[in-house]
Amino acid sequence: MLSDTEVAINAINTFGIESQMKKAVEELLELSMDCVRLLNGESIKPQKVAEEIADVRLVMLQLQIILSQMESKFPQLIETAYRYKVERTALVIERKMEANNNGASTATNRTVETDL
Ligand SMILES: [Mg+2]
Repeated sequence: MLSDTEVAINAINTFGIESQMKKAVEELLELSMDCVRLLNGESIKPQKVAEEIADVRLVMLQLQIILSQMESKFPQLIETAYRYKVERTALVIERKMEANNNGASTATNRTVETDL
């Protein structure tokens, strides 16, 4: 059985870089539209959203491979940027929690519960 990366490379080589970059845009839009529908209170089957997230994961892998061909440091650039974004988000959350503890208004949005 082929790895995810092998399938992604085969997709790029079979359909072409331009086609797969357009596919990435298309899949991102499909997931975006499902998010909008959820935010608008529309009923969407979890399986549908799961499939859109899976589509996006696969095209993001292809996009990373394509862009890595153009810039060999691209995987490292992504990882560095990702680490920065995670750390910055953690800092923003920490500041928000401190502000809430100091009497600022609390979040009114729905939240998630997880054991992570
Ligand atoms: Mg899709």
